[in-house]
Amino acid sequence: MRIIIGFLVIATLGLWGLKIYYLDLGSAPETTAFQIDIEGMRALVKDDKGNLPIRINAVLVGSSEVPSTMVVAGTGFDERRMVRVAYQIVYGSRYVLIDAGADEALDQKVGMGGTFYAEGYEQIQRALDRAAAVLFTHEHWDHTAGVARAPNLERIYAKIHFTKAQLENKTELAIAEFPAGFLDRFTPIEYEGLHRFASGMVLLGAAGHTPGSQMIYVRLSDGAEYLFVGDIVWHTDGIRLLRGRPRAISRLLLGEEEDVVLQQVRALHNLSDAYSDVEVVVSHDGDQFDELTGSGRFGSRFE
Ligand SMILES: [Zn+2]
Repeated sequence: MRIIIGFLVIATLGLWGLKIYYLDLGSAPETTAFQIDIEGMRALVKDDKGNLPIRINAVLVGSSEVPSTMVVAGTGFDERRMVRVAYQIVYGSRYVLIDAGADEALDQKVGMGGTFYAEGYEQIQRALDRAAAVLFTHEHWDHTAGVARAPNLERIYAKIHFTKAQLENKTELAIAEFPAGFLDRFTPIEYEGLHRFASGMVLLGAAGHTPGSQMIYVRLSDGAEYLFVGDIVWHTDGIRLLRGRPRAISRLLLGEEEDVVLQQVRALHNLSDAYSDVEVVVSHDGDQFDELTGSGRFGSRFE
């Protein structure tokens, strides 16, 4: 009997330790080497007055309910809603797309199940046809496959802008199932530090979650400023609470550079303190998506 109790105690402690290690740990450090130079971004677009984008739309492609601690380490087992979205940066009759979602087959095969929004995906496909440019927060399938599966891929080819690091991540792009040989034809964007991509839009490389992750700064004509950070965190609570994804996800599932991502989380936290007017937009944060579209700050349909 004593042996059984001893075994149960050791097994319980072991499971508790694994839970803490893989689900709870993941705090951002006190200091960070990652710089988000908002003043530099502002300087790069200061001469764009008159040509700045005028509004932003966001459409929903998918959503899943997942335990909170799988999204933000150590936040318990209540459910959080993760969304899969794409954005349209509108300049009058022209627009740029950020990310392109994924089609239903891939969403259900590789994704975490949940709901697929065919109407949102169709809006993205229509928008790809008329977009002036398409770029990506990073190369993961849930952000790029909408382009890979586009029926008019040959026609939209010239406006797809991968970065060099995104294009070199062949393993990830293979999951999005781009046609054989298609990716070899691109000349990627290459930049160091800050890069003005278009009027009111600046890129900042942020390798960590993936090698090709980047932040995208957008300044609108009304002065509103947004920083699209893709998947550096999966919920804005990660930035507020200074916590990344749990190690079960970060290390075991994604194989991301956890220490680098946590430094970026610290940098985003510091940015939110110092520049509270700059809205940090987190791709998969269902609460923020509802707030931005519900308040009308982002339109909820593509035009
Ligand atoms: Zn993602």
